[in-house]
Amino acid sequence: MLRNAGFESRCTFASLDGLGMEIGTRYHKGAMSELDDQLEIAARIIFDASYVIALVGAGMSKESGIPTFRGGDGLWDKLGEPPMDGYQRLLEDPAAWFAEREVEQASRSEFTSAIEEAKPNPGHYALAEMERLGHLQHVITQNIDNLHQVAGSTAITEIHGNRTKQRCIGCNRRWDRGKFVPKETPPRCPDCEGIVKNDTVMFGEPIPQDVLESCYEHSRQADAILLLGTSATVTPAADFPVMVHRQGGRLIEVNPQGTPLSDICSAVLRAPTGETLPKLVERVAELVG
Ligand SMILES: [Zn+2]
Repeated sequence: MLRNAGFESRCTFASLDGLGMEIGTRYHKGAMSELDDQLEIAARIIFDASYVIALVGAGMSKESGIPTFRGGDGLWDKLGEPPMDGYQRLLEDPAAWFAEREVEQASRSEFTSAIEEAKPNPGHYALAEMERLGHLQHVITQNIDNLHQVAGSTAITEIHGNRTKQRCIGCNRRWDRGKFVPKETPPRCPDCEGIVKNDTVMFGEPIPQDVLESCYEHSRQADAILLLGTSATVTPAADFPVMVHRQGGRLIEVNPQGTPLSDICSAVLRAPTGETLPKLVERVAELVG
């Protein structure tokens, strides 16, 4: 039995809730740490749910050595924020924008080098394993680094695009890196004549419609959502956990820091995803048997 969202499994979960509280009371200073306790609750939620999704943020990429943009040692704090009107400039003068970009790419940024060298961390591999077990139906990521795919995840929507792909801004057709060979500047889509740019969503650029639809569709189906290294405070990402919560689904947070969503989570694991997710998927695999 891989999935069972029926009455019986809901009872199992309800009794586990009780058990969790009982253990917490009886063994308050005992051997079972708070993290193990939360891990067990999270594993049961995933096992009992019929449609589990994950919302992934920069915290997970950071564990693979990719610098974040904001906060503390973030790149923007050091270098200043990039111009907010990039997409507008692309639309107004595509030829000039592409010429500028070539110059930019020649002086490879700290971010570009870090991202080129980054490898998936154990958390990425754990999510791919959870998908193989049939207990993770979809990953929605805010990261652009392609590390989920390298680790083996296949059901994935990338809110901010994928740095290894090119996309037509007219019809959203995508090409893997090297598969689209531009014949002119600015590069034009062979299907619709739209401009073809990197798939990564720029400042001021709307999130592609097909991506948005996919995110909302998977969130609508979900009865459990993992929040991984994200505070989910920026829309549209902020909408998905709220949707799942409103439909009666469970939220599981894995994040060393608290977030505005922590209070409505059924399980909170205060640890990095690279440490926690492998243990979580191991426990789910035991429950699967
Ligand atoms: Zn097109």
